[in-house]
Amino acid sequence: TIILGLESSCDETAAALVTADGRILAHRLATQEEAHRPYGGVVPEIAARAHVEALSPLVEAVLADADMTLDQVDVIAATAGPGLIGGVMVGLVTGKALAHAAGKPLVAVNHLEGHALSPRLADPSLQFPYLLLLVSGGHCQLLLVRGPGDYARLATTIDDASGEAFDKTAKLLGLGYPGGPAVEKAAAGGDPSAVPLPRPLVGTAEPHFSFAGLKSAVMRAAQSGRYSTEDIAASFQQAVIDCLVDRTGRQLASHGHVTALVVAGGVAANQSIRAALESLASQHGLPFVAPPLWLCTDNAAMIAWAGAERYAAGLVDDLTVPARPRWPLDPAAEKARGAGV
Ligand code: ATP
Ligand code: MG
Ligand code: FE
Repeated sequence: TIILGLESSCDETAAALVTADGRILAHRLATQEEAHRPYGGVVPEIAARAHVEALSPLVEAVLADADMTLDQVDVIAATAGPGLIGGVMVGLVTGKALAHAAGKPLVAVNHLEGHALSPRLADPSLQFPYLLLLVSGGHCQLLLVRGPGDYARLATTIDDASGEAFDKTAKLLGLGYPGGPAVEKAAAGGDPSAVPLPRPLVGTAEPHFSFAGLKSAVMRAAQSGRYSTEDIAASFQQAVIDCLVDRTGRQLASHGHVTALVVAGGVAANQSIRAALESLASQHGLPFVAPPLWLCTDNAAMIAWAGAERYAAGLVDDLTVPARPRWPLDPAAEKARGAGV
């Protein structure tokens, strides 16, 4: 079974061809970083237009890379949310058109499920259930992953997402856009204990994450003029690591039956975060799984793979499936905590 995956929920346009047994036949990505750089963040209207221009050529390119035609594809998988609605619509409508024209089944993929299942594409031996730390531009959650479409959200952020904290810190420090990799680079030349910064919610009984207070403290440190950019970046990164490790460790202590500790999402590309989580997993006697860096940030291989897992589980959509700007993986938990969290 061969799955064509389409991704267009944020600022990367991507297409990929993946097999149901986890081989990546082709994957391509067009990043819009340059288009958004002057604005210091993603501009939805610019993003949507850029997806329209980039997507069809990318689909043709991956088919050519794999020396295939659309007829040889078995399933079309497209991101249907959550994300910037203009971009999501471009990918989903393209997926619907291809599915209709070629007479293939459509799988509407939750972008977060793409991140959540990407570790199984990287490591086919990874079994359900696993504890997932999903750290991305818009999310910071701990999820019990029981299978495709079957998630229990154990914790989430009460304010900023982890990637958002990196991006805002980068902006504050004048490190530019996108912020995560720039902060990591600056941090490598700094002292992680130089700047005293808070670790919001660490050690508390509540399971959630919080990064807003950290961001304000970073702003005060930067304005004080007493610290180098490198020291602030390193201290910020260390504070984030301490929060992630504390919150994740708390769940590992109460979910002894999981097969592994897994990290996914764009922030999982950070080497210091990976190293800290790997040592946490080994303290709990668990394997640690993190996808390769390119599979952590947005891509279409993870969407094709989530499509493969859903298709294998009989989860196919019809052509009326809507694009969804908001789409939680665990709607019950979302509802229980109220809007926004
Ligand atoms: P979501 O998946 O929640 O919808 P998104 O798709 O925009 O959001 P991703 O592409 O998964 O997010 O991740 C992008 C985020 O990852 C950005 O906030 C970016 O700063 C962050 N990031 C990327 N590389 C690194 C890194 N090396 N260190 C820290 N953060 C990073
Ligand atoms: Mg991006
Ligand atoms: Fe993402």
